[in-house]
Amino acid sequence: MAMQSDAMRNNMKILAILSFLDGDRASKPLEELQHAQHKSSWSRWIPFVVLHAPFLMLFAVGWSWQAVALCVVLYLIRMFAITGFYHRYFSHRTFKTSRVLQFIFGVIGATSVQRGPLWWAAHHRGHHRYSDKELDVHSPVVSGLVWSHIGWITSDKNIPTDYSRVPDLAKFPELVFLNRFDWLPVVILAVSVFAYGQYLHGFDSRVTGAQLLVWGFVSTIILFHATCSINSFGHLIGSRRFDTDDDSRNNPVLALFTLGEGWHNNHHRFPGSTKQGIMWWEFDATYEVLKLMQSVGLVWEISKANYDPSACSASDDGVSRRPLLSQDSEVGVPLRHQLSQDGGAVLARSHPVELSSVQFNSQMEAGARSGYGDV
Ligand SMILES: [Zn+2]
Ligand SMILES: [Zn+2]
Repeated sequence: MAMQSDAMRNNMKILAILSFLDGDRASKPLEELQHAQHKSSWSRWIPFVVLHAPFLMLFAVGWSWQAVALCVVLYLIRMFAITGFYHRYFSHRTFKTSRVLQFIFGVIGATSVQRGPLWWAAHHRGHHRYSDKELDVHSPVVSGLVWSHIGWITSDKNIPTDYSRVPDLAKFPELVFLNRFDWLPVVILAVSVFAYGQYLHGFDSRVTGAQLLVWGFVSTIILFHATCSINSFGHLIGSRRFDTDDDSRNNPVLALFTLGEGWHNNHHRFPGSTKQGIMWWEFDATYEVLKLMQSVGLVWEISKANYDPSACSASDDGVSRRPLLSQDSEVGVPLRHQLSQDGGAVLARSHPVELSSVQFNSQMEAGARSGYGDV
């Protein structure tokens, strides 16, 4: 009997550990949190504070060209995984790719400590649906800069993944697994970077495993804040080409650091377009890489907003009122346009109501491109 209860206790411990490691069990169920208030949980700030410790450790490990190169390369590859795949592919389905490649970029994106692709896409689709309205979980206009940048991730309410918003992604078991155990790619990358540093130490004594590991984490922190900046500064600082129903901005500095995501007003206007830079000077590095990938058959059906500046007329406030529209409704963005008196499309200023998952999905289906959900 005693042996049996010992075994049971051990099983309980294993189950508790598994629950802690499984993203879907580590928080209260979504249904329980549905009516909860958005408020910061102080215990959830601890990982973010700890994440910044490697900046201090830089003094202890020093630097080498190999460490700086690793920091830059990891930043660029992972930023591309976030912008090209977490955002333009998983969240908006603006192009197509193979099941293998979507998983590979899902894994690379997960090494950025920005949770799994389904969690990311579910929240982002909500952001487009309720942009800068009360139900937008990270609006700097509604909730302030700090909340939109990082605070919203520390709210218990935003921890679970709302699978009802990503049924097109949830049908892939490997993506659901990645979403639940999103910490695994982080650990694998950290161990690999450390081992690589130790290997290089054999050729150059200035390089160590600990040094590369610290610089790898520095890359992760910069990447994290650059991505968060789109949610915060991308809705505060910059210009507005389109009179969208939110405060999204085009910001060249953000576009540079985020490989093209800074053309955020363009993106809110044409969320179904793979290309976010519209004018020739709006360099969109992510789009250029995706174009290269398309030329060798890795991705296909990348798209471009059909915007014709000559068809626009500027109003008194300098905001164009008549952009040509080719993608008025895309994933995450229901139809919200109405015709103005002169026949141009303007955005209907409406107060959104929270949709049930059925309503949300039917609106997304209505706005999706043909072939939505297929890979
Ligand atoms: Zn936005
Ligand atoms: Zn988006």
